[in-house]
Amino acid sequence: MTQSSSRRLHAAVNFACAAAVCFSAQATAQTPQRIDSVYSAQIKALTPVDPRWKFNTDLVDYLPYSATVPTPLKVLGYVPGTLGRLSRTADLNKYFRALAAASPRVKVFSGGMSDEGREMLVVAIADDSTIAKLDDYRAKIARLADPRGLDSATRVRLVHEAKPIYWLTGTIHAPETGSPEMLMELAYRLAVDESPNIRDIRSNVITLITPATEVDGRDREVDVYGESQRLGLGPQGVPLLYWGKYTAHDNNRDAIVVSQKLTQNVMSTFLHWKPTVVHDLHESVPFLYISTGTGPYNDEYDPIVIDEWHTLAYQEITELTRRGLPGVWTHGFYDGWAPNYTVLSVGNLHNSIGRFYETYTSSGAGCTTVRLQSSDTTRIWYRSNPPVNGVKWCIRSNINFQQSGVLVALRYVADNRDVFLNNFVTKSQRMITRGRTTAPYAFVIPRAQRHSAEAADLVNLFRTHGVEIQEATADFTVTVDSAVHRDTTVRDSAARATSAKARTRAVTVPVHAGDWIVRLDQPYAAPARTLLAIQKYSPDDPTPYDDTGWTLDLLRGVETLKVADSSVFTRPMRMLTSNAVVTGTTSGAGPALIVPHTGDWRSAVLPWKVKGVKVLVADSAFTADGTSYPAGTFFIQNDDAKVRDALHALGVNAVATSAAAPVKQHAITLPRIALMHTWTETQNEGWVRFAFEQMGIPFTYISTQTLSKPNALDRFDVVVFPHVNGPVTTMINGRPMIGPAIPWKTTAQTPNIGKLDATDDIRPGMGLDGAAALRRFVERGGLLITEGNSTRLPIEIGFTSTASIASTPKLQARGGIYHATVSDRASPIVYGYDSNQLSVYFNQSPVLSVSKRDTLENTTGISPAIIDAREKQRARAVVSFVRNPGDLLVSGLLAGGDELAGKAAVVDAPLGGGHVVMFGIRPLWRWETQGTFAMPINAMANWNHL
Ligand SMILES: [Zn+2]
Repeated sequence: MTQSSSRRLHAAVNFACAAAVCFSAQATAQTPQRIDSVYSAQIKALTPVDPRWKFNTDLVDYLPYSATVPTPLKVLGYVPGTLGRLSRTADLNKYFRALAAASPRVKVFSGGMSDEGREMLVVAIADDSTIAKLDDYRAKIARLADPRGLDSATRVRLVHEAKPIYWLTGTIHAPETGSPEMLMELAYRLAVDESPNIRDIRSNVITLITPATEVDGRDREVDVYGESQRLGLGPQGVPLLYWGKYTAHDNNRDAIVVSQKLTQNVMSTFLHWKPTVVHDLHESVPFLYISTGTGPYNDEYDPIVIDEWHTLAYQEITELTRRGLPGVWTHGFYDGWAPNYTVLSVGNLHNSIGRFYETYTSSGAGCTTVRLQSSDTTRIWYRSNPPVNGVKWCIRSNINFQQSGVLVALRYVADNRDVFLNNFVTKSQRMITRGRTTAPYAFVIPRAQRHSAEAADLVNLFRTHGVEIQEATADFTVTVDSAVHRDTTVRDSAARATSAKARTRAVTVPVHAGDWIVRLDQPYAAPARTLLAIQKYSPDDPTPYDDTGWTLDLLRGVETLKVADSSVFTRPMRMLTSNAVVTGTTSGAGPALIVPHTGDWRSAVLPWKVKGVKVLVADSAFTADGTSYPAGTFFIQNDDAKVRDALHALGVNAVATSAAAPVKQHAITLPRIALMHTWTETQNEGWVRFAFEQMGIPFTYISTQTLSKPNALDRFDVVVFPHVNGPVTTMINGRPMIGPAIPWKTTAQTPNIGKLDATDDIRPGMGLDGAAALRRFVERGGLLITEGNSTRLPIEIGFTSTASIASTPKLQARGGIYHATVSDRASPIVYGYDSNQLSVYFNQSPVLSVSKRDTLENTTGISPAIIDAREKQRARAVVSFVRNPGDLLVSGLLAGGDELAGKAAVVDAPLGGGHVVMFGIRPLWRWETQGTFAMPINAMANWNHL
C-alpha cells in the first residue's frame, strides 16, 4: 500500500464544550461540527475508566450533532451500549429507516426475508452525490468485477472513478450482541459527521451495513437476555437454544452449500453489490482479534487477498494500539482453510476481501471484570500488546473497540481506494487468466449419469455462487489429463480402463449435447474450483479450525470431468440462463412399475412421495424383461399419472412392465418417525430436521424429556437421535438441577421463543426412565437411529454388547472425506449402493468396532441352535472404512489412519424385536453429504425389515 501513503490517517476531531454548545476544534470554517453533548456524555459515562488503559478512542468518544438527522437515542430512547438494553430486529430496522428518511446520504435496501419473516437490511452510506448515483457506482464496480473485454484505458479510468464498497455485517451469531448496537451509531456518525476523517470516508467509500444477519436469532437473544435478567440467572442463565430456525453457530458454516435463507440472502446481496470488502462482526476472544489466520490458507485464495488481510489488520492494530487500547491482535485464532464461513468466504471466493473481527463478548448488555487465563494475556509476536486482567469490560467497551477499528479500516480503504480497486480487478483478471492458460480449463458435469438430478442440483449450486455454467450444444470430445482427473469420475468404462492403465497419459472422453460445462476462464471460478478440488491438509499444519475436506462431487455422488485441454473453449456451447432441471422418465409398457434404487436420497424417499400407494421392495437381485436389478428395487403395482408425476418430479427413472417380478419382496410400511432433540444443543439435530423437511420426510419433533412420559413412544416406529455433543451422562441427566427452573416457552416477555418446541424447564434430560423407555421401544420392534456422538448412548448404556467405540489416540481425521466400503450387502440400509468404494464424511469420532463372529474353534461343543440365536443378536458392520490405511484418505486430513482402517462406519445392532442403527459417520452433515443421505432413509423405510 504505497500509492497513497502520503495521505495519512488523521485523528478525528477533538472537541471542546462550553455549557451545552460544543464545536469541533478541527472543524472547517464552513461547516463547524457541533457535538451532541447529551449523547457524548453518555458515551463517556458508559465507558469504563482505568488508570492504565483506554477503552475508547478519539474516533468514537463523541457524537456529532445534527438538527435534522435522528440519533439512536432520539429514535429508540437509549444510547447503544446502555446497560441492559439490546435492540430487537424491528427496532434496528426502524432506526435505519428513520436515518435514511432524514439523510440524503443514507439509503435502505432489503437484503431478503428470514425463515420466520423478518427482514435483513442492507443500508448504503456515502456522500450525497454518490448516494444519488448509486446504480452508476454499482455498475462501475460490476465492470471491474468482470474485466473480460475491458481495455486497459477503461480499466484505469474505472479504477479511478469507482468507489470501493465496504460491507459490514452484524450479529450472524445471535449471542454475540454488540454489533447491531454499534452499527446504528456508526451509521449515524458516517451520515452526519463533518470531521475531515469521516468526510474522507464518506466521499471515497460506499459503506454498506447489515445490522443483523441472523434476524430471527437476534430477537430470540433479546428475549432470553431479558428472561435471564428477570430470573436473576446472570447474563446467559437462559441459554440461547435455537438461533436460526435450523442452525445455531453453524449458520456461519453454510457458504459451501448456501442452504439456509440467511446465506441465500447474503449471497444474493453480495452478487448484487460486489463489495470490495466484506467484514463480519463476531464476539468471543479478548479484546479485538482481527482475522488473518494461521494458515494453511485455502488453495483458491489469491496471494493478493492474503496480503490485504494482513495489511488491513496491521493498520488497525497500529492505529488502535497507539490510541491506548489493549489487546488488539491477529493471526492465532482460526486458520483460513475451509471456504464455508457464510460472509467472509463469499467475499474471499469472489475476488473480494473477506474478513472478520472477534471482540470480547459482553454477554448480553452488561459489564464484567476481566479474568483471563495466561494463554490469553501473554505477549507473543502476533499479540505484542496483549489483553489485560482485572479491568472492567462493558458492552460499551465492545462497541468502542469495534467501531474504532472499523473506522480505521474504512479510512484506510478510503485513502487507498485506487489500490484496493486495482487489487480487486487484478484478482478477477488473474482468475480468468489462470483458467485460460492452465489445466484444469473446465469441468464437465455429464447430464446422463447415475445421479442426474443430483448433478443438476450441483450445477444450480454453482449458479447460486454466481458461477457461469454453459451447456454443450453438440457432441464432442475433450482430453482429460489423468494428473488432474480422478479415475472414479470417468463415466465411460473404456476410458476408465484406459485411465487406470496409464495414469500419466491423457484420456479422451466424450461430451454430449446437454452436458454442463463450467469454464474456468471466468472471474467467479473459485467456488467451482474449491468445491471440486481434492483437499490436502497436512498433519504438520496447525490444528484445523473446522472441516478439512469438502470435495462436493464425491460427497454428492456426482460424476465430474476435469478438462485438461484448452480446446474446450472453442467447442459448441451456450450459457445456461436458468436453473438446470432433470425430470425422471418411464420406459416400457405395462400396468406395474419397476423403479431401480440408485443409492441416492431421491430413490430412497420414493415411498413417501407416493404415499398411499403400495410399494414393494425386492429382497434380492433379479432379472425382468432381460434387465438385471439389484436388491432394493421398488415395485409399484398401481401405476397412474399421479405416481409417474411424483417419480418424474424427483428425477427418478422407472420401467413399466407387465411381467410379475420373479423375486421375494416385502411391502413398505411408512414409519411414524420421532426426531428427538435435547435441551442442551439443537444445532446438529437442526441440520437433520432441515434435511428431512427438504426431502419431504414427515416427522414428529420431540425432546428427550418426552421419553419419560408414560407410553410416549407408543405412537412411533422410528426414533432418530441426531448427533449431540457431550457425554452420555448429560444426555440422560441434562443440565445441573440447581437454582430455579429455566423455562423455554412463549410469554409476553419472550414472544420469539418456545415456537419450535417448549418446556417449563430445560434442565432435565431423558432420565434413567427415559433411557429405559427407549430400550423397551426398540425391544418391542422399534428402530433407533443414532448419529455421531449420540451413538455413545446405546453403546455406553448397554443396548448392545457386541458393538463398542474404539480408542484412537493417534487418529487425526478432522472433518474430511474417507473411503469406506459396503460390508453387509444384504442390509436394506445400503440398498442402491452398488459401488465397492464410497466417499463418506467423518469427523474424528466415534470410531465403531463390532466383535467378530464366533469362529470354529470357540464354538466347539455349543449347539448350532444356540450359535444361531447368538449370531442373530450380534451387531453387524453394514459399512466399514477400507482396510488399508493408505487407501483411507479421499480429501482433507488424515494421520494415524491405522486406528480407523477396517473399523465400522455404520452398524446395525439387533435388540429384542427391533434394531439400533448407529452411524459413526455423519450421513446428513450440513446439507453437504447427499451421497450418504439414502442410508438413514433406507433404514427408516425398511424399519421393520432390517
Ligand atoms: Zn461468532
